[in-house]
Amino acid sequence: MKLSELGEFGLIELIRQKSPTGSGVHRGIGDDAAEISLPAGHHLLTSTDLLIEDVHFRRDWTDYQALGHKAVAVNLSDIAAMGATPRYLYLGLACPGDTDLDDINMFLNGALDEAARHNVALVGGDTCRSPGPWLISVTIEGSAPANQAIGRDGAQAGDLIMVSGSLGDSALALQMLREGQAPDAELLARHHRPTAQVELGRRLAERGLARAMIDISDGLAGDLEHILQASRVDGVIDEELLPLSAAFRRATDGHPTLRQLALYGGEDYELLFTVPPDRVAEVSALGVQLQLSITRVGIIQEGSGRLSLRDGTGAIHALQVRGYDHFCHA
Ligand code: ADP
Ligand code: MG
Repeated sequence: MKLSELGEFGLIELIRQKSPTGSGVHRGIGDDAAEISLPAGHHLLTSTDLLIEDVHFRRDWTDYQALGHKAVAVNLSDIAAMGATPRYLYLGLACPGDTDLDDINMFLNGALDEAARHNVALVGGDTCRSPGPWLISVTIEGSAPANQAIGRDGAQAGDLIMVSGSLGDSALALQMLREGQAPDAELLARHHRPTAQVELGRRLAERGLARAMIDISDGLAGDLEHILQASRVDGVIDEELLPLSAAFRRATDGHPTLRQLALYGGEDYELLFTVPPDRVAEVSALGVQLQLSITRVGIIQEGSGRLSLRDGTGAIHALQVRGYDHFCHA
């Protein structure tokens, strides 16, 4: 069946039926606005992301379930980066009238499964016909006890720079797809089905372990620079300390340009945060508890937002940040 046969209201009803309600939801899908209550003493955190066909994804490189998963995961990652708890989701969806309902169902399954895994309820959205490309707009709301959320602006000289997981896998998979090569399954999964580090972010905030935090969507260097500029400090990354997966090492061995994807590639959706030196042991213990690798990659220094890299020989280079800019990388 095609979307044009089901119609806008048929699709909204389908979405409503697939969406379990959530705690704190007084009115969800079906009214003019969602009505929600947050736990007492919590602040509301809201983030939104656009995904546009042929800019953010290609329908011939992904499947609809993975697309739904990723649309939600990248938003969860923004809430994780604040150290907050994700709670409510809004989905804006525009696709052509001849879209197959099976594709829509797969997309919704991917999105709703990922939301449910984090106890996040879909409570509203908007639906319309697109003249061509798919457009997906996801808004997420989360909450955190007052004064607990972690911004980009709290890093202080002496803090250690830490990162979860491994870097560059997603960007390497994308690069290989672009070149017509088949990335191995582990790299592809990192690209198509990223994992938001929600639990890690929340625990870091609850225990006050991180002073500044961001999720890595535009590459380690570019996102670290956001922290440095917001916090008015400098940062030095140690190239030898960058956490690389075995699959990434294999595929980039002898290819220094590809190796650089660990610094400049995007879409890792790992957390990058700064920790006062006397709290590093607690962060390491948290990593063990959550079965996540957490690696120290550098240090914060007094300064004014500049980033540099210490290479294998100990030489320090000012870094040319090449994070993704939508208007500069057409
Ligand atoms: P309005 O005309 O006020 O925009 P709609 O007919 O677009 O209302 O939406 C009706 C209800 O369905 C609203 O509660 C809206 O939030 C919800 N809704 C519409 N599209 C979606 C969607 N893609 N996902 C989730 N909820 C949706
Ligand atoms: Mg509407």
